[in-house]
Amino acid sequence: MQLISGTAVAEKVLEECRRDIAELAAAGKKPGLAVVLVGEDPASRAYVRSKDKKCRDLGLHSIKLELPASTTQEELLAHVQTLNNDPAIHGILVQSPPPTHIDEAAIVRAIDPAKDVDGFHPMNVAKLALEDSSGFVPCTPLGCQRLLMDAGIETKGANVVVLGRSMIVGKPMALLLMAKGPGGDATVTVAHSRTRDLASITKQADIIIAAIGRPEFLKAEHVREGAVVIDVGINRVEAPDTPKGYKLVGDVAFDEVAPLCKAITPVPGGVGPMTIAMLIANTIKACKQIG
Ligand code: NDP
Repeated sequence: MQLISGTAVAEKVLEECRRDIAELAAAGKKPGLAVVLVGEDPASRAYVRSKDKKCRDLGLHSIKLELPASTTQEELLAHVQTLNNDPAIHGILVQSPPPTHIDEAAIVRAIDPAKDVDGFHPMNVAKLALEDSSGFVPCTPLGCQRLLMDAGIETKGANVVVLGRSMIVGKPMALLLMAKGPGGDATVTVAHSRTRDLASITKQADIIIAAIGRPEFLKAEHVREGAVVIDVGINRVEAPDTPKGYKLVGDVAFDEVAPLCKAITPVPGGVGPMTIAMLIANTIKACKQIG
């Protein structure tokens, strides 16, 4: 069984980013990322801080806008507009989820598609569906694809089951895998909460991508021997004997599934580190494209 280390592949992606950043610096350019957070959610705050730190460590220009939960839709739109017009900023992301009085879809639509490094703007969703490589692909599925490619897992002709149909993970993952070319050309099935007899479907899969947000949901009975499993899930579960009182587990029951697998990602240290690495890669791509 091959344990696919997201930590190691993410480091490789960041090394490529460092080279790109140095080349851009020689041409007098510095990629800039702005992360906007509305509200006090501690997990989102921690996530935004770690993105900001990673960007700064790599020598990117990084802006972190932490706005109060009382920020209105109009105020947030005005901030997005300012960032759209800021020539030092090439990537903009608004941390999800915003407070409930904010219309998240309208905010995403207000971001300049050329700076939409999260890949959630309808223009970028369309470009992914059209296989137009000038668009931005959401960071988590892009990271999963890179993990498969780096681990030497052939997707061409493979039966892949994507578990989950969210716009952030499942749907773009399916589009990436069915696209023509390297890392694609797969026969893709997308399963979700309305899918009947899930195990009979996942048992056919050469590759399973689990992105459902249910702790340790995918069991040995769902997986055929020799399958590859990519676990996107990050779930906090109680663990009274640990110092924090909780631990992070994936959507896959790792201990029972791993022995069946040809290759599998762990949680933590699998897909998680890839997401931020791909965000930085997308910001560099935006900087190069905007010029
Ligand atoms: P969503 O809640 O948006 O989507 C979950 C999907 O799973 C839905 O399509 C849902 O179906 C489906 N689903 C839920 N329960 C079942 C079930 N019992 N059987 C089959 N399908 C089911 O989650 P996200 O896509 O945003 O995230 C998924 C997981 O990935 C979460 O654990 C999240 O924390 C993690 N994540 C990790 C990231 C990383 O960097 N590693 C980044 C983003 C997310 P339906 O549509 O019918 O409701």
